[in-house]
Amino acid sequence: MQFENSLEFARKLDSEDPLKHFKDKFFFPSSNGTDQLYFCGNSLGLQAKTTKTSIERELEDWANLAVNGHVHAKNPWVSYHKILTKATAKLVGAKPIEVSTMNGVTVNLNSLFISFYRPTKKRYKIITEHNPFSSDSYLLENQIKLHGLNPSKTIIEVKPRKNEFIIRTEDIIDTIKKHEKELALVFFGGVQYYTGQAFDIKSITSAAHKAGALAGYDLAHATGNIELKLHAWNVDFAAWCTYKYLNAGPGAVGQLFVHEKYAQAKNLPRLAGWWAMMRKERFMMKKGFKPMAGAEGWAQSNDNVLSMASLKAALEVFEEAGNKALWGKSRMLTAYLEYLIRTECKADPSKSSTYKLKIITPSSPKDRGCQLSILVMNGGKKLFDTLIKENFVVDYRNPDVIRITPVPLYNSFEDVFKIGNFLKSVCFHE
Ligand SMILES: *Cc1c(COP(=O)(O)O)cnc(C)c1O
Repeated sequence: MQFENSLEFARKLDSEDPLKHFKDKFFFPSSNGTDQLYFCGNSLGLQAKTTKTSIERELEDWANLAVNGHVHAKNPWVSYHKILTKATAKLVGAKPIEVSTMNGVTVNLNSLFISFYRPTKKRYKIITEHNPFSSDSYLLENQIKLHGLNPSKTIIEVKPRKNEFIIRTEDIIDTIKKHEKELALVFFGGVQYYTGQAFDIKSITSAAHKAGALAGYDLAHATGNIELKLHAWNVDFAAWCTYKYLNAGPGAVGQLFVHEKYAQAKNLPRLAGWWAMMRKERFMMKKGFKPMAGAEGWAQSNDNVLSMASLKAALEVFEEAGNKALWGKSRMLTAYLEYLIRTECKADPSKSSTYKLKIITPSSPKDRGCQLSILVMNGGKKLFDTLIKENFVVDYRNPDVIRITPVPLYNSFEDVFKIGNFLKSVCFHE
């Protein structure tokens, strides 16, 4: 599409947008009585207006039924997580038996590593991305130590080439081949939190399997942001949070995926608890752990119902929007932002007040989600503070990146035009 830098053009795109009314389903933050333009769904998604009712439903059942709510609540708490399974499976391209809702992303990954990182004398290495998210670094380091191994001799990070920001898929695959005799696991983010690069999960997984290793993913920045086909791609395991693109609220409950091929692998070592136990025997208080089939078999504690009620409301919005409309709009919205920054930000670069920018997120829609990461060569923190003062909510990641994320559920082309037009006056894109 030929984009134009004008408010009329942005409004025209909005009028043709099949999801234009979804904005009204969310609350937007304000500062000193002025509405803010929100571009921070990569960090914390907005609250759907139906969230309150969904949580209140459970508060009411708790007030009226107390302990009997476990079985007699309208949505019985004993199996509350099951309500979320269908919509979740659709969103990540999984079969219902492959997904479940529990804990937080880091806890789930730690638990999945117990099952799927089983180093031997010969096969023990883990290949991961350069500079993974801090929580992933910590968990990798310590999972390796749990097996008495040395993290620095076990973790192989694939780096971008010199003067590049994006990790090339061919380099990931070459690294997998190079270490194939010692490789136990390939573990990547779905979308890199700093650069916004969407990794080629299908190719990486296939290369890992060819090397005789497993492939697992942290999808915190991917779920609800890009199209996923976890089952078809043959991913072994994955986990993600629900408070970023899924809009379930601060610290909301996490979710995980375990491929169907392990659904009946009940002897896989795991961190066990009563909520993974077969329902029929769960309350018999007998010895002998028999996990449920599929992803539910990784649960430990009983359901966090209030958080799941919030996720329920959030997932209903996704179901109503439908994957196709969502990904279609997402590609257009981010491409429009990219166009405004790349071709319109041409303030005089010789002036000291001009910020020099470079978008480091890949240009190809298949290699990114909705986030654009903008490297600021001179004074990123200052530009970030200015954007906040102007009521644009974006975020800043050390050392020098501003992340701007137009979310297809609640951002409009007009929103994107406004931030693009502001940047235009003070920035130069090289
Ligand atoms: C946000 C994020 C997390 C958060 O972990 P929690 O366990 O939910 O606190 C983990 N990994 C990545 C890649 C993230 O972006």
